[in-house]
Amino acid sequence: MNSDRYRVKSGRRVSLQDWATDDDGGYSKEEGKALLSSLKSELAEWQERLYAESKQALLIVLQARDAGGKDGTVKHVIGAFNPNGVQIANFKVPSEEELAHDFLWRVHAKVPRRGNIGVFNRSHYEDILVTRVHALIDDKTAEQRSKDIRNFEFLLIDSRTQIIKFYLHISPEEQRQRLQERLNDPTKHWKFNEGDLAERVKWPEYTSAYEDAFATSTKDAPWYVIPADHKWFRDLLIAQVILDRLKEMNPEYPVSTFDPKEIKIPNVKEQ
Ligand code: AMP
Ligand code: MG
Repeated sequence: MNSDRYRVKSGRRVSLQDWATDDDGGYSKEEGKALLSSLKSELAEWQERLYAESKQALLIVLQARDAGGKDGTVKHVIGAFNPNGVQIANFKVPSEEELAHDFLWRVHAKVPRRGNIGVFNRSHYEDILVTRVHALIDDKTAEQRSKDIRNFEFLLIDSRTQIIKFYLHISPEEQRQRLQERLNDPTKHWKFNEGDLAERVKWPEYTSAYEDAFATSTKDAPWYVIPADHKWFRDLLIAQVILDRLKEMNPEYPVSTFDPKEIKIPNVKEQ
């Protein structure tokens, strides 16, 4: 599958209404699920190489509107990896301590160490999304933060941390159904948050904040707009993008410093 058509080319302005939410890439759900399961095995193999090599890291940023599928993506795609090499960070409303620092302070601390895959479930982008929609910052500050974000991401790239940013793109109708589902099913009540309804009615404001945020898409830290109405296609496409990137990073098993033929494992008695 060619995932490049879902990448935001650097310098290109995104108008979200031109990007489909219900694309299925021409696959049936059954085909998609079978394909995902083989991609997951490949993902696990490449992650092991990354971990063994321990010279580079991969940071995956997940952004979406409420019920957009961030948690599902963590479960179904990131779940392919050995948890030992994954660092997941969930960014919530900043604490008093966090607000007393620059906005990247808490974010930098959660960047994955070399050898690991980091997942940001929400991220530093909230600092130019929800904050803008709720007018907690003005346009000038948003512009300054976008520059800071670019520079921050360049710093990570220079330090051998690669970055991929996903926006899970759902339609208003899909969000309505998913929120309703959370109300209908008692085992999903815990996911329902009345505050999400206040965010929902700000749909157009979020759209323009996201469209501005996509200006931070660069060759090395690209944004992907993932059609996310079909959960199985969302998972498949994200898995493909991550796999392609891991292959590009081409982590290698380290060359051993010993000659295995020279080493004899000593015999020991049980007692
Ligand atoms: P959830 O991801 O559903 O657990 O919700 C986390 C909440 O934290 C969301 O409402 C986000 O908008 C909010 N949040 C995350 N990061 C920030 C931030 N930097 N500034 C303000 N709110 C944030
Ligand atoms: Mg929520």
